Amino acid sequence: MGIDMTIKPLIILPDPVLRQVSTPVETIDADIRRLADDMLETMYDAPGIGLAAIQIGVPKRLLVLDVTKEGEEKQPLVFINPKVVHSSEERSVYEEGCLSIPDYYAEVERPAAITVEYVDREGKEQAVEAEGLLATCLQHEIDHLNGVLFIDYISKLKRDMVIRRFTKAAKTRGAKAI
Ligand SMILES: [Zn+2]
Repeated sequence: MGIDMTIKPLIILPDPVLRQVSTPVETIDADIRRLADDMLETMYDAPGIGLAAIQIGVPKRLLVLDVTKEGEEKQPLVFINPKVVHSSEERSVYEEGCLSIPDYYAEVERPAAITVEYVDREGKEQAVEAEGLLATCLQHEIDHLNGVLFIDYISKLKRDMVIRRFTKAAKTRGAKAI
């Protein structure tokens, strides 16, 4: 990570940018590494455990994660063009939240284990078998790359309530909205 990392403003529900489908990263160059570093800085500052590029308004298939517990040594992970190549039949339920939907949490059921192929920050092809929190977090962030939010998995009634609440809040913020 460089010394010139920048904390970026987060895109918040109901901004339609969050529904955009991100495009693959073609070349892993200094700009992409810089973007990954800025995303990590933004994620740690929030604080959060995962962030997709679209959440800072960049529609590229790139996400960052760090699922280590507070007090443990940081383990920043960068996933470029991640693809789920296997999902377990077994499912698990986690209470999820999202930096783009602040202070809202809901239980979401997803495959308990997945295999993800991706390219790392150095441009090397990698694969990871994930389970537990890492599996949930990866699926949540990969969803962002496809314009999908975790509230899409809850009941329509609850989802409409959340969207209404955030739409009202955005109007209150008015011209100052970022
Ligand atoms: Zn999210």
